[in-house]
Amino acid sequence: MRQSDRADVVIIGGAIVGSSVATFLAMRPDFDGRIVVVERDASFRTSSTTLSAASIRLQFSTPLNIEISRFGVDLIKHPERYLAVNGEVPQIDFVENGYLFLATDAGLATLEHNNAVQRGLDVPVVLLTPPELHSRFDWLRTDDLAGGSLGLADEGWFDAYALLQGFRRKARSLGVEERIGEVVGLERDGGGIRAVRLADGSSIGADWVVNAAGPRAADVARMVDVELPVRPRKRLVYHVDAPVSLGAAPLTIDPSGVYVRPEGAAYITGFSPRDGDPDPDTLDLRADRAPFDSFVWPTLAHRVPAFDRLRLLDAWAGHYEVNTLDHNAIVGPHPTITNLLFANGFSGHGLQQAPAVGRGLAEWIVSGGWQTLDLSPLGYERITRNEPMRELNVV
Ligand SMILES: Cc1cc2nc3c(=O)[nH]c(=O)nc-3n(C[C@H](O)[C@H](O)[C@H](O)COP(=O)(O)OP(=O)(O)OC[C@H]3O[C@@H](n4cnc5c(N)ncnc54)[C@H](O)[C@@H]3O)c2cc1C
Repeated sequence: MRQSDRADVVIIGGAIVGSSVATFLAMRPDFDGRIVVVERDASFRTSSTTLSAASIRLQFSTPLNIEISRFGVDLIKHPERYLAVNGEVPQIDFVENGYLFLATDAGLATLEHNNAVQRGLDVPVVLLTPPELHSRFDWLRTDDLAGGSLGLADEGWFDAYALLQGFRRKARSLGVEERIGEVVGLERDGGGIRAVRLADGSSIGADWVVNAAGPRAADVARMVDVELPVRPRKRLVYHVDAPVSLGAAPLTIDPSGVYVRPEGAAYITGFSPRDGDPDPDTLDLRADRAPFDSFVWPTLAHRVPAFDRLRLLDAWAGHYEVNTLDHNAIVGPHPTITNLLFANGFSGHGLQQAPAVGRGLAEWIVSGGWQTLDLSPLGYERITRNEPMRELNVV
């Protein structure tokens, strides 16, 4: 191996999570090592990052997920604090319309519980009765609802591609190197990993290896015989045009799991399967129309009667990287292969969690501990112990 093919840190996957880790590490004054990000898809066309709904919320059910997103909001609202390069600041276009979680009688107790957790942490949320919902959102059908939880600030959506490019540009400006190629093997050395092997036959020696491979994270872990319960699950997004405007509507989540939010003058909508529904592992990216016709559209037309006259403009599919244990991220070192760091299993909230997780892993690499936010509840150990840290608010 040539001397130059050695890095202090090799990050596998250069989308939002990998580039956030690289950026936060390179920004640290107490780190001056070499960082190489290896990315198989130079266009990022198949990455979850560019195929996502690009939204951020504080309405989680666990205090840790709330704090993680709070840092994400800070970065998205203030990119000048983190991502400026020579005075230029990426334009992330945050639309701060909030999230609205709706519940029927069956879901009301959970909604109230989550809302109480959030208010306990000073999250600006309010519980609304059906008449209050109707007076705020006259386009919403409320007669079969028991309540709603509305975020009043620090929630909304943004330009995910601009955020990704902002991280990459910042990282490059700080000396981070990007290598286009696919990692196909990890070479062991006693207890740790010595090098990553690329499909072109080259290797890069590494003191630290970060798995930021998104829906393919389990394939990377398997290279060192580690089982990671992260599976690629297809999620569809439909871009629709409506004959009416809902104004500054929030991202609204129907009790069925169907969500809808404005996207410019039109809307995007989609859903996650409920517990027990089929949700096969797949890397297929075909945008099936059938679920729109059979489920999404009728559900939307029920909840927003004006949406009876929708027009489907476009559709795409991406992958959630679902942690099948508990729908929460797996972050930090493997218990025995201690120079292998995970940043995986975000289960549909990885864009908003990327800033805090990137900052956290940078802290771990430099100091061997968490400095700003204790991410240890998200550690791999809970997988071995089969102790889920469940997130109840899954969109
Ligand atoms: C439809 C949809 C809607 C979503 N909506 C939201 C949302 O509103 N808010 C939110 O926070 N999150 C959302 N998400 C989830 C979010 O997009 C992901 O959690 C996040 O993008 C994960 O980022 P990542 O960098 O880990 O993975 P990815 O973006 O998938 O990046 C992983 C990268 O690793 C590369 N890679 C993989 N294997 C290798 C290898 N062996 N060698 C080299 N490179 C490799 C891939 O090419 C890829 O670029 C959504 C996802 C989908 C699909």
